[in-house]
Amino acid sequence: MDKQSYVDCAENAFYKTYNRYGVVIEKGEGTHIYDVEGKKYLDFGAGIAVFAFGYGNKEYNDALKDQIDKIIHTSNYFYNIPSIDAASKLKEVAGMDRVFFTNSGAESIEGALKIAKKYGHCKDGRDDHEIIAFEHSFHGRTLGALSVTGTKKYREPFEQLIPGIKFATYNDLESVKALVNEKTCAILMETVQGEGGIYPATNEFIEGVRKLCDDNDMLMISDEIQCGMGRTGKMFAYQHYNVMPDVVTAAKALGCGVPVGAFMARGKAAKVLEPGDHGTTYGGNPLATRAVSTVLDMFKKYDTVKHVNDITPYLEKVLDGFVQKYDFVTARRGLGLMQGLVCGEKAADVVKSCIENGLILFMAGHDVVRFVPPLVITREDIDEMAEILDKVLASKNS
Ligand SMILES: *Cc1c(COP(=O)(O)O)cnc(C)c1O
Repeated sequence: MDKQSYVDCAENAFYKTYNRYGVVIEKGEGTHIYDVEGKKYLDFGAGIAVFAFGYGNKEYNDALKDQIDKIIHTSNYFYNIPSIDAASKLKEVAGMDRVFFTNSGAESIEGALKIAKKYGHCKDGRDDHEIIAFEHSFHGRTLGALSVTGTKKYREPFEQLIPGIKFATYNDLESVKALVNEKTCAILMETVQGEGGIYPATNEFIEGVRKLCDDNDMLMISDEIQCGMGRTGKMFAYQHYNVMPDVVTAAKALGCGVPVGAFMARGKAAKVLEPGDHGTTYGGNPLATRAVSTVLDMFKKYDTVKHVNDITPYLEKVLDGFVQKYDFVTARRGLGLMQGLVCGEKAADVVKSCIENGLILFMAGHDVVRFVPPLVITREDIDEMAEILDKVLASKNS
């Protein structure tokens, strides 16, 4: 089939929930992907911060092939070796006590919300607890995750959602304090806001949130689904700060392409859920957790976090150059290989033109061009990105 036939077929078959670019992807290799017409794209989106090690990585693929031949799925009535390996390694790098494997980011958020609600319930027996989340946050599309997502237009058609969710202003501790009362059981925040526009938390803010949780016996939940797994130059972004959350969510690069997520907890939060409180058929299955285990081994073996720290200044320098050069590019924000260029109302147009010119980038918010490349990118990849982006920015600079 040619490209247009695929697109027509897709438009006839799929429920229309996505506005897709007219590109039909066929395969990937390293930091590049190829469409059905053989056109090559440099991928600075990594499948939305997923493919940390790039495409077609032999070590990763071989591990999965080996697992496919052994066993793909069992059930949570039994133990399985990859999930035991993965859970032990993950709690170690995250500094958590307990791990629960899920199938997606949103599902990890659901688990975290259940911990928060039950924590509150066990504490005082009330059934009207409140959770504080943030404006511009994104936590996923299931009803629970949507309830705590800051973007109104995502929530509104599906009201009523979970009651008792309050939204504070990110990086504004006073706005959080103003919402805390005797019903509040948890504060949920991305350590670096992703979809909302790439906003890293300030030290003062995140330490203040931790203290507020300690002082009021509330749980601090860190959504690390996008900013975790080495992306910001630490294994988890909260490790940049002098805090430890009670609950952590992960997904995206956790399995580097196999759908898998996790929620983790430590201390008192690790004891909240008991047998019968939560479950999933697929969660923690051998194939998905073999991916997690392999990914965590590769992080160690290749010191990927160090590579992120080594390469980040070069990416920042290149992006800062565009802020200098083009009037409509007004700022760069980010941490490590999670960066955003503020391009105002031209952002969507820039992304579209970049894709047409063989560079994959995504938006964040309505005015930010997002850079979440594979963590293994080289200077050559950054130079290739810069050449295409410069051409595109120049064409919009009128
Ligand atoms: C992507 C994302 C989610 C949702 O993950 P899904 O796997 O799409 O359900 C939640 N939180 C953050 C911060 C994300 O970036």
